[in-house]
Amino acid sequence: MSRNFDFEVLYREQEKELPDFIRRLYRTSSFYRQKLQGAGILPEDIRTFSDLAAVPFTDKYELRQAYPLGLAAVPEENIVRIHSSSGTTGKPIIIPYTVRDVNIWAEMMARCLKMAGVTAGDRVQITPGYGLWTAGIGFQAGVERLGAMAIPTGAGNTEKQLELMEDPQTTVIIATASYGLLLAEEIGRRGLRPILGLRLGIFGSERWGEKMRRRIEEILGIETFDIYGLTEIYGPGVGIDCPAHEGIHMWTDHLLLEIIDPVTGERLPPGQQGELVITTLTKEGAPLLRYRTHDLTRLKPEACSCGAPYPLIDRILARTDDMIKIKGVNIYPGQIDHILHLIPGASSEYQIVLRRHQGKDEMEITVEHERGADPSAVAAHCRQYIKSKIGITVEVKAVPQGTLPRSEKKTRRIYDYREEQMDPLKVS
Ligand code: ZN
Repeated sequence: MSRNFDFEVLYREQEKELPDFIRRLYRTSSFYRQKLQGAGILPEDIRTFSDLAAVPFTDKYELRQAYPLGLAAVPEENIVRIHSSSGTTGKPIIIPYTVRDVNIWAEMMARCLKMAGVTAGDRVQITPGYGLWTAGIGFQAGVERLGAMAIPTGAGNTEKQLELMEDPQTTVIIATASYGLLLAEEIGRRGLRPILGLRLGIFGSERWGEKMRRRIEEILGIETFDIYGLTEIYGPGVGIDCPAHEGIHMWTDHLLLEIIDPVTGERLPPGQQGELVITTLTKEGAPLLRYRTHDLTRLKPEACSCGAPYPLIDRILARTDDMIKIKGVNIYPGQIDHILHLIPGASSEYQIVLRRHQGKDEMEITVEHERGADPSAVAAHCRQYIKSKIGITVEVKAVPQGTLPRSEKKTRRIYDYREEQMDPLKVS
């Protein structure tokens, strides 16, 4: 039987750090001093977890406006590194890090790896990119902190990746979920599995469904872990799912978590689904107060059966930015993932195309079916589930597994060809 997680105790604990954190923000961050003064909030106004609910959120566009170094809350000589978000539109966000930030991040990452079962005896192939992006270097620091062997291949070049997996006998693979699938399929196609030493996979930086997870695990014969993070808040490694796979443990000794209604901004209690908002209690270089992640999840009321003292959030259901509005209905790609999970014969990959025809929105979903499955049955089943579970009628086409494009980075699943002004994906 599962126990409940005591959020009240956690909040009381975090509350102790809150006044200091707010005073520090006021003193050191011109970005936040301006923001809080603008909202008429003085440091002494925020003493408790409930006081925090009156503080305005911080959103991505504000961080972008602070480009290049407007977020820095320490003197330049204390900044040892910067990272930046990939920024598909406009200027990227630059996040400065102090020595302490870099250390805490490595510590959190090492904790993630340890939770997934990585040990000093492992050989860890790090396939996410290095550079301004936080992923590669973030994983590397954690692997080294743990004392395992890093094999820092970086992104792409599948031939080289497979060669390194085979020769030094990589035991742990780290990748985006999309690249994890691409590698798994390639390994399956070449029949390499018996000569590889893989035992664990750690995948993240995009939302991935249960079906995709199962496919990767089956082809490679490994256990996989979903790692969470975002550049604005250190990078990957601020949370991970554990061997119980009941959700993602979040490192609440450094992060204060809230779930809000993404429309009204109202704070929601544990158990209710909404947008994750994070306050970075210990971050120095670019501390963030009530930062909207745009990730939809919930705080799980239950404590994890693994016994770890950190609360769980659900694996990310969707990003609010990925919401598709069609025929008056809001749809998240995660809902399609979920439906595919329920349909026998459907595989993990899908693509959504939106068009406008004679003033009407049309949605076509292409799904992959497993070998041996009847494509028309899979398509019909899918159409029927979307109708009954989401409430709209869509065209569904089933194609053989491996037909849709694979990505070395993150998979693009939505192609919206409707007019620009109707395109919710362009709104940042
Ligand atoms: Zn656990």
